[in-house]
Amino acid sequence: MQKIMSDCVFCKIVSGEIASEVLFENHHVVSILDINPIHFGHALVIPKVHYRDFLELDPGCYTSLLTGARIVTAALVKGLNLEGFNIFSNNGRIAGQSVFHFHLHVTPRYRDDDIRFILTLKKYQNGELKRYADLIRRHIEVS
Ligand code: AMP
Repeated sequence: MQKIMSDCVFCKIVSGEIASEVLFENHHVVSILDINPIHFGHALVIPKVHYRDFLELDPGCYTSLLTGARIVTAALVKGLNLEGFNIFSNNGRIAGQSVFHFHLHVTPRYRDDDIRFILTLKKYQNGELKRYADLIRRHIEVS
């Protein structure tokens, strides 16, 4: 069953209520240009069904989503002559998500393009690497 949220901008794009520049579409996903791009050509890959975030995705759409991302990324690389690109997804407000309908970003990268993730990398102290691994491992569920 199609899940559509009346107040969701991406659901409105999927239904055609809001215009967008569609790059590619298959049964499960649509890919459009982001209207506020990091670089021109910045694309979004959006499942047609409304899922709030990565963990809500129906596993049945994984293949279409990644296949769509690959097709669009390859077209960006060829069309814009890219040497590199980033694929990412913001999940949760604290992680920068502003549209709460899951999507992948595909952004062109250029030499000296001055886009940087400012990160202060941490170092695990004695035993912490294993402690963190244990905290996560005990919740690994394979269905
Ligand atoms: P995020 O902040 O990761 O949730 O990404 C949402 C993205 O959707 C932002 O980069 C917005 O610029 C983009 N966006 C919002 N509304 C539209 C729209 N009507 N058409 C295309 N992109 C949009």
